[in-house]
Amino acid sequence: MKKLGFGCMRLPLTQPQDAASVDLEQCRQMVDLFLARGFTYFDTAYFYHNRQSECFVRQMLVERHPRSAFVLADKMPLGILGEKTAEDQDRIFHEQLEKCGVDYFDYYLLHCIDEENYAIAQRLDTFSYLAQKKAEGKIRRLGFSFHDSAAFLDQVLTAHPEMDFVQLQINYLDWEDPLIQSRLCYETARRHQKPVVVMEPVKGGQLANLSQPVAELLHAHAPGASPASWAIRFAAGLDGVMMVLSGMSSLEQVADNTQFMDAFTPLTPEERTITVQAAQMLRQEGAIPCTACSYCTAGCPQAIPIPALFTLYNNQVRAPRPDRRETYQALTQSQHAASACISCGQCAAACPQHLDIPTLLHQQVAPAFER
Ligand code: SF4
Ligand code: SF4
Repeated sequence: MKKLGFGCMRLPLTQPQDAASVDLEQCRQMVDLFLARGFTYFDTAYFYHNRQSECFVRQMLVERHPRSAFVLADKMPLGILGEKTAEDQDRIFHEQLEKCGVDYFDYYLLHCIDEENYAIAQRLDTFSYLAQKKAEGKIRRLGFSFHDSAAFLDQVLTAHPEMDFVQLQINYLDWEDPLIQSRLCYETARRHQKPVVVMEPVKGGQLANLSQPVAELLHAHAPGASPASWAIRFAAGLDGVMMVLSGMSSLEQVADNTQFMDAFTPLTPEERTITVQAAQMLRQEGAIPCTACSYCTAGCPQAIPIPALFTLYNNQVRAPRPDRRETYQALTQSQHAASACISCGQCAAACPQHLDIPTLLHQQVAPAFER
């Protein structure tokens, strides 16, 4: 398999603030181009696009191409199973097969393992349940996506040597991050001899939309290469990485990604050194390390468009512009502003990046746009 996977978390939208308003016509073109260029791996999940991503996958991919032309990955949403039963888990798995329109998943993951979700998986015996589904032929390869420390990853992999693969957040900005621990987690997976699927190689678009100084640093070395190509090649060049997921949002992104990943070459030692320099510069810019995954928004009682506000803030930090205040006002007119946050903490509990969202809203976003 070619090493680029089509992430179905950031599909193009017809209305920017409505995650379910997916532009299906453009998606179909994106899928067709992706497949025509010899790429086959698609990744979806229960939560994505207001729980509609699996249905969009069926419409843009499954109903239009033979089952043998693609491989599909889906995930058990542990985050919503906290109060639920084993019967709910079984119902959700079958609902996912139906929504996607398939009889089996090529890859299936326990979604977002951290200490809290691991406890849920243990209570519901999710590992055994999914092993049974694999034995029944409904899952071909079983793994988990992970958002916690390397020490905890070691614990989980030691307890579950039956896992076929592990999905990790790896990119050149998080490689040495003390919280995300990309390098340490990667090395742990390698020690356990698990193939690695990479998520967030472009960190939710942050490594594709660089500030001018960082973009110039990369451009000076390789004028024809997009910033995203640096980030994806960084991850894809690591030993043991079997797939790099990219949440593509336009036909242009599919065209660019499939072009440089077709004749894929890992970063050279010199290029890796440049990414270290780029990461240092990015850290100094002080952007909020949000990946725009939107896991935080569903439970917000104040309907605050958290990822959109963080993205706007980050753009302002990188390249200040006075008109961003108007964008902020437009964004928060139909939904609530950062200062409306009541610090209930629901969003922070759902954030795989472990961001202290209420503090960031009150101490960074609100002062930047509301005063
Ligand atoms: S802490 Fe604030 S932003 Fe987070 S869910 Fe509660 S009200 Fe919404
Ligand atoms: S704040 Fe956290 S949960 Fe919300 S979009 Fe950003 S990374 Fe995702």
